[in-house]
Amino acid sequence: VVILALDFGGTKLAAAVVEGNDRKQLQSCRRAFSPPNANARTDIEIMRSLAHELLTGTQPTAIGVSFGGPVDAKTGTVRLSHHVAGWENTPLREILETEFQAPAIVDNDANVAALGEYRYGAGQGYDSLFYITVSTGIGGGWILNGQSWRGTDGMAGEIGHTVVDPAGPVCLCGKRGCVERLASGPYMAQQARERLQAQPQQGALLRHLVKSDLNKITGQIISQAAEQGDDIAIEVLETAGWALGVAIGNAANLINPQRFVLGGGVTKAGVHFWEVLHRVAGQTALPEVNFEIVPAALGDEAPLWGAIALAEDLLKLQP
Ligand SMILES: [Zn+2]
Repeated sequence: VVILALDFGGTKLAAAVVEGNDRKQLQSCRRAFSPPNANARTDIEIMRSLAHELLTGTQPTAIGVSFGGPVDAKTGTVRLSHHVAGWENTPLREILETEFQAPAIVDNDANVAALGEYRYGAGQGYDSLFYITVSTGIGGGWILNGQSWRGTDGMAGEIGHTVVDPAGPVCLCGKRGCVERLASGPYMAQQARERLQAQPQQGALLRHLVKSDLNKITGQIISQAAEQGDDIAIEVLETAGWALGVAIGNAANLINPQRFVLGGGVTKAGVHFWEVLHRVAGQTALPEVNFEIVPAALGDEAPLWGAIALAEDLLKLQP
């Protein structure tokens, strides 16, 4: 069995090939950046050459694909990409099946990463879990009874646009007080900038870390400043932890999964963030609703591992 795993991220492309039953590490893997003016055609072309480099003439048995955007998993058609132009209604599964003469399966990156963590990462042994990725955006994927739960339109798991503060600031989706608006990296940076401008006496450490150039503030720098005790950085991180905690507590009440697995930059957000997150999630859920919140284990490789798992499942379904 030769499995080809592909990860179409927003800015990064990655391919891996696994043979036999070795699943300890990704031995043969290639990565490339999507060029500045990338479109669907150039991304597919780059991915095709990464895959052929890895396969060196071998025909894959199955292909698993993670795509960074909404996908119709039943047909393997990409609906669109929010980052790269020209993906509208691209029949990605069909394109890959024709190119590599092997069955393919395509799903969106949050679902695929959830499957990766479930089978090979922090979710091993837990057959109901919710994977959340917190970075530029906030997304999630459900594993219920050991299966991906995609929802009617493939839109399940959009925890980033759960409203936790109806009177809060406006999110890019048009609603107010979404989790993503309060806890994603770029929005945290924006919150920090606004507070620094409004409160010139505060946030000395944070200002120092960016040499007073407030445009240089990132989620990572906020975490760093909070670790060193910066008041504004702590406030912003605690708000983020609170928002995510409310959403997780509510999700726990609704679905009662065993675990929440958190990936993305948030795993490095530090002790303030995690402390508030755990406390608020616990307070939001009913006392009888038990769950754990743990950091993801696979990092950037979660979509590739999930793509391998998708291909494995596809092979099981084949006669
Ligand atoms: Zn939103």
